[in-house]
Amino acid sequence: MNHAPYTGRFAPSPTGLLHIGSLLTALASYADARANGGRWLVRMEDLDPPREMAGAADAILHTLEAFGFEWDGEVAYQSRRHDLYRATLARLQSGGAAYPCYCSRKDWQAAAARGTDGFVYNGRCRVPADRPAASGKLPAWRLRVPDETVGFSDGIVGAYAQNLARDIGDFVLLRADGFWAYQLAVVADDAAQGVTHIVRGQDLLVSTPRQIYLQRCLGAPTPQYAHLPLLTNRLGQKWSKQTLAPALDLLRREALLREVMGYLNLPPAPEVARPRDLLDWAVAHWQLDKVPRHAVCTEREAADSN
Ligand code: GLU
Repeated sequence: MNHAPYTGRFAPSPTGLLHIGSLLTALASYADARANGGRWLVRMEDLDPPREMAGAADAILHTLEAFGFEWDGEVAYQSRRHDLYRATLARLQSGGAAYPCYCSRKDWQAAAARGTDGFVYNGRCRVPADRPAASGKLPAWRLRVPDETVGFSDGIVGAYAQNLARDIGDFVLLRADGFWAYQLAVVADDAAQGVTHIVRGQDLLVSTPRQIYLQRCLGAPTPQYAHLPLLTNRLGQKWSKQTLAPALDLLRREALLREVMGYLNLPPAPEVARPRDLLDWAVAHWQLDKVPRHAVCTEREAADSN
């Protein structure tokens, strides 16, 4: 448990522009932080250049500003924090928790069981003698996970747990192509930035037990978590780049803020002039326990008429 003063964050990946689902996450993480007298950081998760969209990082910050969000301190860019990730991996390597894996995806996935988040790695490279020949290629680095339940109490979802060995398997910290895995970077950053509260989408719930276990391996405190309902299209698919979520329209800022405030069960705001006033209203009326637990369809009329 973490007793440091509240520090929250919003951590977009610049793989596309912000959409309605990102606005919900930004608003909820901001309102929860400010309603608790906390700090609110913005961290750009630009770790995977091949998946990124040119100009998206700047566009995201511009959009946040246009919606009236004000963050504390400088924006952190993951692309500039490789030393921290290297040092974090080195600690796990020296303690024996992380090991090199030379398996190709094809090698192990054919016979692997499906877990909670994809295939469960069978742990072949755990034992040095069982590792396939390196043949000059760089390994991925995996974290050895225990056959134990890792659970926590989520501020929105309630109790959530996984058996890491059975549901996930030893997971990747550094990919064989040299890119840092999200799990390692996010835990290293949240710890280094003193993040005490994480408010983010339920698509990441499945990652949280891995992150808590990594925090334990590193002796880092576990933040409080609250995983927000996903916003979906009329087919029940989460809004994302893949489902062609429209980018936020800056000409409709007030309407869009009112819309996500409604999804979060905030009371209707009075007529106000600026997006900033709507954010203040959201902070003043914020109640985490009013946030719905289940996904919300943003195209209800369209879905009803089908
Ligand atoms: N960068 C992640 C995303 O955009 C969020 C990571 C997090 O909040 O832990 O989905």
